[in-house]
Amino acid sequence: MHIDPRFRILTRIESWILPKDFCESIFCIDLGRLASSGIKGLVIDLDNTLVAWSKRKPDPFLIDWFKKLRSKGFKCCIVSNNLSNRETEQFAIQLGASLVTSARKPFPRGFVQAMKAMGTGPSETAVIGDQLFTDVLGGNLAGTYTILVRPLGSREFPTTRLARLLEKLACRLFPKLRALTSQCDK
Ligand SMILES: [Mg+2]
Repeated sequence: MHIDPRFRILTRIESWILPKDFCESIFCIDLGRLASSGIKGLVIDLDNTLVAWSKRKPDPFLIDWFKKLRSKGFKCCIVSNNLSNRETEQFAIQLGASLVTSARKPFPRGFVQAMKAMGTGPSETAVIGDQLFTDVLGGNLAGTYTILVRPLGSREFPTTRLARLLEKLACRLFPKLRALTSQCDK
């Protein structure tokens, strides 16, 4: 059967950016289910996933959530495209997580570095983040389990605002993505 090449390309793109799961926030992630499916390490995005953009003070809920992660045996690594600075390093230390900065997501290097720091392989790692074209795309390319979360706030880098337009377009184009996230309704 002949398949239109344009359709094949679209299907390929969808498989790259489609997360395995979508949660309203990190606090809604079913940690028990992740653990029972063999996930041992969590690569977590920073801005608008753990804290609002440019905020670098973890609140008590976040500190408790990381304690819970550790008590369940998860290794954690925060992976950000931002440059390293003292506040970000302090933030990761407070949460007891490793840190990879200047990660250049969606390129694999930062994800590989994080998995090395956690001692996990791709099939034992989940990537959690609020952006399709950095966190989800990168996590999928690295062969990990990917979880998209809704961004915590609307304040973002100009480049991220541009990426949000592409996300909206992707939602219109790909029904599976639309069904999973319902982001186009926002
Ligand atoms: Mg983010």
